[in-house]
Amino acid sequence: MRKHIVAGNWKMNNDLPQTESLITDLKKQLQTSEAEVMIAPSFTNLWHAFEALRLDDIEVIAQNMHFAENGAYTGEVSASMLTSIGIKTVILGHSERRAYYNESDADLAKKVDAALVNNMRVIFCFGEELSDRKAGNEESVVKSQIESALFHLSADAFNHIVLAYEPVWAIGTGETATPEQAQDMHAFIRKTLTDKYGETTANNVSILYGGSVKPNNAKEIFSKPDVDGGLIGGASLKAEDFFAIVNAF
Ligand code: 13P
Repeated sequence: MRKHIVAGNWKMNNDLPQTESLITDLKKQLQTSEAEVMIAPSFTNLWHAFEALRLDDIEVIAQNMHFAENGAYTGEVSASMLTSIGIKTVILGHSERRAYYNESDADLAKKVDAALVNNMRVIFCFGEELSDRKAGNEESVVKSQIESALFHLSADAFNHIVLAYEPVWAIGTGETATPEQAQDMHAFIRKTLTDKYGETTANNVSILYGGSVKPNNAKEIFSKPDVDGGLIGGASLKAEDFFAIVNAF
């Protein structure tokens, strides 16, 4: 059966002292939870965070990686660099990567492959822009993002894929998709997977929602049957808020 997951995407926030301090706070708040809990600090703080949380039920994950194994890619980090320090999961395809660094669907397909070859789990992000939703194209946009980056994979590969639906208009804006909008899209995503891979595979894939999830709306969003957790930006930067969201399950 699919898992509940709450992952904190710290984005480009927290230097080393701030990372140390937030991890101390997270440890204080940590209780047994039904959901898997993850945090994604920046590359420079991954090793510290991994070591600091080695014995705790918080997985440290990466926000991005390159598709090549190594080589002349100044400023980039490879899958094997991540796995060599113990990182087992990577976020790929975040809308900020797509928008600011021109990551294309083709790049993302290669990144997904590189992660899987290195036995990593992928949290694959996608979502429509406001103009797509206004034009009524949100489903076709989402379907095309999923198809182009993931539909070359085998059904078995989906044991290592988590999907994260993040409508761009809801990220960092305070404007959340309504629980019904999230549920409708998640059901559509699951149907898209079912049509291609069958029900068993589709029912086993966790689909997270991301976009202005806060302590005061998490419970309602997570109560929807096809919403299996959240990818949390701003609210993951305060331990109290983050665990209020984790404990919304
Ligand atoms: P916010 O929760 O700040 O809207 O960010 C969501 C997000 O982009 C998580 O990856």
